Amino acid sequence: MHVPVSKPLFSELEKKYVLDALEKGDISGFKGQYIKKFEDQFATFCGVKHAVTVSSGTTALHLALAVLGIKSDDEVLVSSLTNMATFFAVLYQNAKPIPVDCELETLNIDPLLVEEKITDKTKAIIVVHLYGHPVDMDPILALAKKYNLYVIEDAAEAHGAEYKGRKVGSLGDIGCFSFYANKIVTTGEGGMITTNNPELADKARSLKALAFGKENKFMHQDVGYNYRLTNLQSALGCAQMDKIDLIIKKKRQMAEYYLKNLAGIEGLQLPVEKDYAFNVYWMFNLVLTGKLMGKRKEIMSQLEEKGVEVRDDFVPFNDQEIFIKSDLTQHEDCPLATQIGKNGFYIPSGTDISEEEQNYVIEQIKEVIKIF
Ligand SMILES: *Cc1c(COP(=O)(O)O)cnc(C)c1O
Repeated sequence: MHVPVSKPLFSELEKKYVLDALEKGDISGFKGQYIKKFEDQFATFCGVKHAVTVSSGTTALHLALAVLGIKSDDEVLVSSLTNMATFFAVLYQNAKPIPVDCELETLNIDPLLVEEKITDKTKAIIVVHLYGHPVDMDPILALAKKYNLYVIEDAAEAHGAEYKGRKVGSLGDIGCFSFYANKIVTTGEGGMITTNNPELADKARSLKALAFGKENKFMHQDVGYNYRLTNLQSALGCAQMDKIDLIIKKKRQMAEYYLKNLAGIEGLQLPVEKDYAFNVYWMFNLVLTGKLMGKRKEIMSQLEEKGVEVRDDFVPFNDQEIFIKSDLTQHEDCPLATQIGKNGFYIPSGTDISEEEQNYVIEQIKEVIKIF
């Protein structure tokens, strides 16, 4: 048996919308009905006033920092355990990213470690809702208020996740989403910015499209970017938004089944769902602890041999050689992120994974760890 880590869920609707866009010749990021439709659908879904399509999660993060005016010498606090795109975005603005360690249970930024990192140069905090579990936002928002900081949510892995009943992407100043092929919903490549602030939304719309002039188009208002999502991609996105509730339901069913059948195994830390959280379980992540700590390489290669696809967790910012060399961080900065980065991996988590496949994955995991 071969069980992939994930597979997008497509139906006839994706084909219909994409073909429609193609037949009308609306293929760019400027023209066509699907761009606005996708933005409106997404804004409604997140419970925000504005959503702006962009070309990726990475460009969403960069644009968020650009519209907030983050510039060189500014410091931005970022959860260390994340896709490095979150950090790159800060560096694109020549600002200084400051890594913050994570909580052991949720793997998200630890709100208790934030205040000690705030200086008079700090301008923003980027929280990352990792693997679909929302960050504990209230303490973060309280600190942001106290020190007058912006909050950006990297919700690239958490479409539909909720914090105390409110959707992620609606909690900070700006939310950033990715629609890469393996995300909760996909446009192949793509991204979205969400906000309740009309000025930030307008600025994002301008900057993502070369900041063309209002009266004289080619008299530019600013140094802009081409971060447009095409109408073809947006057509895919509209079809995906049609089934996002179903996708999330299937993700939660997948997780529930693993949680039931992998519970109580010594050395396996499973995902959690805190009181405040509605977890969308983007990927079902395991962290090796106790007697299994340090055995990831062996365990993963044996699972791969059995046809069970697995992926290791991110290498946190504080363990990235290029950033240690350039003196931006050091290994010791975030010990928990280091430990999880070395001992975490995720298992097949596709929306259409069958019970038979899940049983196979569970059986193989139990078999492989028996020898330790
Ligand atoms: C995927 C991802 C990104 C980057 O999104 P792209 O669309 O691949 O550019 C950023 N942050 C996190 C947490 C991600 O998982």
